[in-house]
Amino acid sequence: MVDHRKLGRELELFHADPLAGAGLPIWLPAGAAARHAVEEYVRELERRAGYQHVYSPPLGKRELFELSGHLGYFADDMFPVMRLSADDEFVLRPALCPHHALVYRARGRSYRELPLRIAELGGMYRSERSGVLGGLSRVRAISLNDAHNFCTFEQVGQEVAEILDLIRAAHSALGVRPAGFRLSLRGPGEKYLGDDEEWQRAEGLLRSALSGVSYVEAEGEAAFYGPKIDIQIRDAAGRESTLSTIQLDFDKPERFDLSYMDSDGSRRRPVMVHRSLIGSMERLFAYLIEVHAGAFPAWYAPEQVVVLPVGPDQADAAAEFTRNCVVAGLRARSVSDGSVGARIREAIQRKVPYVAVLGAREAAEGRISLRLRDGQRLDPMAAADALRLITGVVASRSAILR
Ligand SMILES: [Zn+2]
Repeated sequence: MVDHRKLGRELELFHADPLAGAGLPIWLPAGAAARHAVEEYVRELERRAGYQHVYSPPLGKRELFELSGHLGYFADDMFPVMRLSADDEFVLRPALCPHHALVYRARGRSYRELPLRIAELGGMYRSERSGVLGGLSRVRAISLNDAHNFCTFEQVGQEVAEILDLIRAAHSALGVRPAGFRLSLRGPGEKYLGDDEEWQRAEGLLRSALSGVSYVEAEGEAAFYGPKIDIQIRDAAGRESTLSTIQLDFDKPERFDLSYMDSDGSRRRPVMVHRSLIGSMERLFAYLIEVHAGAFPAWYAPEQVVVLPVGPDQADAAAEFTRNCVVAGLRARSVSDGSVGARIREAIQRKVPYVAVLGAREAAEGRISLRLRDGQRLDPMAAADALRLITGVVASRSAILR
């Protein structure tokens, strides 16, 4: 595998500028196009699975993060509090959960609404030391694919099983190959909230959700509020990190006094399940760039089709095919400067999955010659068939180009 920082520069996916600050990369147009495709996909996947999306600000009042426990247990990883006046202090959030707890309690809730699944692809901040930062894998500004599923205790097992299915679906579409599953447990020390009984109950639920899956146990890797299932990936240097996660939390519902009206009219506390299907966009792309060597599956390739007229006489036919690709929802561009050989090489270096070549004969017959990124050359085909082939591969999110 190649280091994502090198490929990210060569393919102009992102830019690390010292003036912007360490750990604060900028997504360039190509990287942003790929990320946008992935974000659209995951929102759609979640929407079909019954999630509701919200927007909440990356900045919040100090009191919110005191109530959530973050300022007490997680302050070392947060940026310092910003003070506007003595009673007006703000923090850059280190997690989305406090805001989602406020979404839950924005009005009264009934048992009929559970599981209530609140999702957001939102910004959060961690004050990582500058020495550990690099490329997209360790950053200070994080865009997390996050959700909080509020459910009854009895629903937790089914909820976790459904989340595991969604994680598998997302991994398969993106080409993620997990390095392993991990059950992250409490370690020694005082940095954990809640009583022993709650921890054991949560641990038991996660263990049963993992039955049939091979996993390792890791003491001291739990969140401060509960145990979690972590799905690990490995980078080009062999370092392991967590991509997807499912965490059980009995504590925040208590702190935020969350409740629902049960069928018998009594007030009960929901359980909060924190989950991320694909982690942060930054860590995900650091991994995807390396695992695919920059050659993403066609559905999230920054440029999907490059159209090359052999000479000026084919310019109109090339422009028409490019337009048809764009109208069909593809990211396509026509390039006419330089020799055909040089243009093909350049497109393949940029890992564009489809190169459409139009010579005099193809243009006269309304045909296209497709060259695939992996070197395959397809026989000339009708322009409409070429378009159908590419849109079909993209729509099915296949990793195979034909
Ligand atoms: Zn959370």
